[in-house]
Amino acid sequence: MKTHAQVVVIGGGVVGCSVIYHLTKLGWKDVMLIERSELTSGSTWHAAGGFHTLNADTNMAALQGYTIGLYRELEQLTGQSCSLHHVGGITLACTPERMDFLKAARAMHRHMGLDTELVTPAEIRQLSPITNTDGVLGALYDPLDGHLDPSGTTHAYAKAAQMQGAEIVLRNRVLETSQMADGGWQVITEQGSIIAEHLVNAAGLWAREVGEMAGVYLPLHPMEHQYFATDDIAEVYDRDKELPHVMDPEGESYLRQEGRGLVIGFYEQDCEPWAVDGTRWDFGHELLGENLDRISDSMETAFKRYPVLAKAGIKTIINGPFTFAPDGNPLVGPVPGLRNYWSACAVMAGFSQAGGVGLTLAEWMIEGEPSRDVFAMDVARFGDYCTRSYTRLKVRENYQKRFAVSYPNEELPAARPLDATPAYGIWQQQNAVFGSSYGMEHVNYFAGEGETPYEIPSFRRSNAFASVAEECQAVRQAVGINEVHNFGKYRISGPAAFEYLDTIMAGKMPKPGRLSLNPMLSPKAKIIGDFTVAQLRPDVFQVTASFSAQAYHMRWFLQHQPQRGVEIENISKQRIGFQIAGPKARDLLQRVTRADVSNEAFPFLSVREIDIGQCQAIVQRVSYTGDRGYEIYVPAHHQVALYQILSAAGADLGLRPFGMRAMMSLRLDKSFGSWMREFKPDYTPIETGLDRFVDYSKQRDFIGKQAALAEREQGATRKLCTFIVDAKDADVDAYEPIWHDGEVVGFVTSGGYSHYAQKSIAYGFLPLELVSEGRSVEIEILGEMISAKLYSQPLFDPKNEYLRG
Ligand SMILES: Cc1cc2nc3c(=O)[nH]c(=O)nc-3n(C[C@H](O)[C@H](O)[C@H](O)COP(=O)(O)OP(=O)(O)OC[C@H]3O[C@@H](n4cnc5c(N)ncnc54)[C@H](O)[C@@H]3O)c2cc1C
Repeated sequence: MKTHAQVVVIGGGVVGCSVIYHLTKLGWKDVMLIERSELTSGSTWHAAGGFHTLNADTNMAALQGYTIGLYRELEQLTGQSCSLHHVGGITLACTPERMDFLKAARAMHRHMGLDTELVTPAEIRQLSPITNTDGVLGALYDPLDGHLDPSGTTHAYAKAAQMQGAEIVLRNRVLETSQMADGGWQVITEQGSIIAEHLVNAAGLWAREVGEMAGVYLPLHPMEHQYFATDDIAEVYDRDKELPHVMDPEGESYLRQEGRGLVIGFYEQDCEPWAVDGTRWDFGHELLGENLDRISDSMETAFKRYPVLAKAGIKTIINGPFTFAPDGNPLVGPVPGLRNYWSACAVMAGFSQAGGVGLTLAEWMIEGEPSRDVFAMDVARFGDYCTRSYTRLKVRENYQKRFAVSYPNEELPAARPLDATPAYGIWQQQNAVFGSSYGMEHVNYFAGEGETPYEIPSFRRSNAFASVAEECQAVRQAVGINEVHNFGKYRISGPAAFEYLDTIMAGKMPKPGRLSLNPMLSPKAKIIGDFTVAQLRPDVFQVTASFSAQAYHMRWFLQHQPQRGVEIENISKQRIGFQIAGPKARDLLQRVTRADVSNEAFPFLSVREIDIGQCQAIVQRVSYTGDRGYEIYVPAHHQVALYQILSAAGADLGLRPFGMRAMMSLRLDKSFGSWMREFKPDYTPIETGLDRFVDYSKQRDFIGKQAALAEREQGATRKLCTFIVDAKDADVDAYEPIWHDGEVVGFVTSGGYSHYAQKSIAYGFLPLELVSEGRSVEIEILGEMISAKLYSQPLFDPKNEYLRG
């Protein structure tokens, strides 16, 4: 075994093997994989081998499509068969909600170029005659679904990687890993020690233990999972064509043909986290004890759905563990807080996802950033709120909801509340309906008197509609109050702070006492943040962005922090407070401070450190509602006092609390974009209009400058636009296709209902040649073509008179 390698990958499951295949394919040859036992010795060997493209995140779905497309290439390259069966798959719908869900998925696939189609019960019976369609309303058919041989496929990755230069060391457990001063890693194994520039944790069932060796906690947990294979069934083998897969969400089951019989697996409600206190090192090629009681309800449904099951005996029952992150997507990328340590863990659908995970990681390591937005599987989408028990509870919930309809307005209940601000109790008394983001509770809206504080999950306008409308009107007509804890906040200070921020931000730096809206770009000029930068005093900045991107942004900040002269502090939970917004916001502010807050003394885009009542506050004159507004930040322990001061002073001004639903509606009136919807690493400044905040003439060589200049030179081919939609009771969510002249020409990024303008609004991309005022298009919402018109003047305060006045 050699003693130095550019990269050491720990784990020879399907994921580790895909990582070394992609690293060597993209050009790094000094790559070594270390496996404790034989290849496939974790979850991989007992997988059912099914694959599919469907994923709620479009980029994840695209990467799943990439994975499936790779198998033929691997077979050709290596001669090793993956035993591919491209049989197609059907997802059944037995309720109107599920049908809506499938229609929304089908619409999203159109924008992605995927050929899924909706089929009727009669067509289902034709495709899969063993399926009893009683109670079935329809289904989504995906021709790309199929299954393969897990072991053959893993060996095909491994063989291809070896042909490209990778070394694989078997029967060699990694015992310790430690970071060296130069950023490299010392890897101590049973067979000796290796120095590696980069370390990849692809240890699957043992990823938690391997993470601990480096002092990190990776939020994932293994779950038990059962499937069984039947004896031969004549209706199955006596056909000239293999049966397609059938997913029956009502029965929480997936079914496919296996030779002359069937395989059926279950994601049951009564599920079991496995190895809660850690995975044994001597766990190997063994199965867990079967537990048919746990799946008896699902089996009963399955016997009704597929009556032929009753004719066959069960040949084998597999109960094996595999790992999940709290949201079910993988944990990939540079692990925050460590140098040159990469995660390729929590891959719950290895045969749909490992190819995309390997490609993404290899691009990230070799080229510095992935070629598309992968936030949905970025290890930094979770933060330190993910305790072990939080992870376990969320993983269990995710497993149970594997086949559930997921609604755009749904808030999942497990492990909540966890983080909450001091104002939580105040909101509870006002009948607040809470949501949660990045572990933190926030108010979505306030339910009316006598109403149950619960928003019914729906694809259509929900029971929150009237309350949210009232909250929006209060902001536009008087003054609203809302918490600002939903921003990630950072204090960046020190003699080199200005230069540092000027380098990582693409926009103009504000003078002391001023704010600037500032995009942060990757080297390829993709949008990786939309910040508000405030210079409080010379060399002291408060920087705010999305709350849920904290670990993601901190990772970037720290990666680019100079050796000295800059201090970076994440103060997201320490500095909280409220924003007040609306025509009477200034009157309210003036009532609670001795400072002069007139427009002359405190103009738009300025920041002041002033006393509000007895609290010392940082006040920013800006508001995401698009109205005249102020964000007031105080230390967390002063939040309740601040609320009492503001609410007492604002009572006769019509002050009313509002939640995130109202905030997201109000932003539509000004065509404001939002993080991970309009602004994300798939899009560029010119495409999204953020170029107006990029300082192309800045002297400093800011990150992404060359690529941004090149983009400006070339121009963009598509543009983010705003549309008024003739929607009836369902507004857009995201990724609905935009049609023009019978063709899909673009897609929606987000939207909703503007309660102020009483119009349904969508944001979306159109090719440049179609962008013109009044352009008519159609947007496919839940399977219906809805007319929409492009407009460019904000619906509220188009001249920014309120905002700046
Ligand atoms: C019953 C069941 C059915 C499934 N069905 C499907 C399916 O139909 N389709 C699908 O896509 N997925 C399915 N899965 C999930 C699939 O198995 C996983 O997504 C996949 O195997 C994950 O692969 P991995 O490489 O991440 O992890 P693992 O397979 O767990 O591999 C990790 C490897 O790391 C090695 N390792 C760990 N620690 C060390 C160390 N310290 N030193 C050296 N080596 C180490 C282990 O020995 C192991 O070989 C199923 C899983 C189960 C349990």
